[in-house]
Amino acid sequence: MKSLLISAITLLPLAPAVALNNMPLVEEKSTRVSDHVWAIVGWPDIAIVTGSRATLVVDTGLGPRNGATVVRVVKKLSTAQKLFLTTTHFHAEHTAGEAGFPADTILIRPTVQQAEAEKGAAEMIARFSTFSEQNRELLAGVKLRAPDIVFDTETKLDLGGVTARLLWFGAGHTKGDELIFVEPDSALIPGDIVQDKIVPRVNAGEGSVKGWLAILDKIAPLNPRYIVPDHGALGDGSLIGKERAFIADLQSRALALKHQGVSVGDAGKQLTAEFKAKYPDWASMDLAASFVGRVYAEDDAPVR
Ligand SMILES: [Zn+2]
Repeated sequence: MKSLLISAITLLPLAPAVALNNMPLVEEKSTRVSDHVWAIVGWPDIAIVTGSRATLVVDTGLGPRNGATVVRVVKKLSTAQKLFLTTTHFHAEHTAGEAGFPADTILIRPTVQQAEAEKGAAEMIARFSTFSEQNRELLAGVKLRAPDIVFDTETKLDLGGVTARLLWFGAGHTKGDELIFVEPDSALIPGDIVQDKIVPRVNAGEGSVKGWLAILDKIAPLNPRYIVPDHGALGDGSLIGKERAFIADLQSRALALKHQGVSVGDAGKQLTAEFKAKYPDWASMDLAASFVGRVYAEDDAPVR
């Protein structure tokens, strides 16, 4: 049951309406991760970084009602007045709750993510609204507002006794993936880039398999002690190596099939079956839908 639920959740951006029931609402309940980092574990996972002067929230939940729940949790954790909000990527469950935050919240995100949101967020919100009656209510009238701050590759927020480094390393799950590294806690909030046994999803026109591996190589030296992913269970730094090994394995198998002249459709089916057997406890093993196609498209070698 659990894997079925995760499967529906991670496939959500492209799944047909009939396949989806109501997604769980954000719960008014947090888990302490480290000295300054807390997580609301659910759909999606939301991170809260509390400093003596300011708080940083990472991701909003789907729609203002969920965003308001996050704000109630923040008020229980900290009395700091200043509130920063950032988003790991532009998909609706990570951005579309911003109107539930106070009007003086300082919204900050990478330039590339903002451009991607301006291009694709309205269409995505409209699509999410069709998935269920609850989604329709949660997203009614939602339009993303302009951010207060954008940054190109990195910016630092001094929250008082704790610093959050907001990082953009290029395309992975989307073009605008942001990762947040919290010092001195050694906690990484990597968005969808590192998760615990959830098959990565790379949508055409948004993400990059090569880019995803490059991001993993850049965050590995941070050697984080704690990881708060976008979806699924909280974990430690060992998740980075596991994610990298899975993607590299899948990339090399897909390239081998491409160079044997196997069609992308057949390769997707074959590798889904092969990887289900090889990684039986990974959720959402539907490689045909996106990942294999991206590997084929990113390969420069001529098809036989
Ligand atoms: Zn996403």
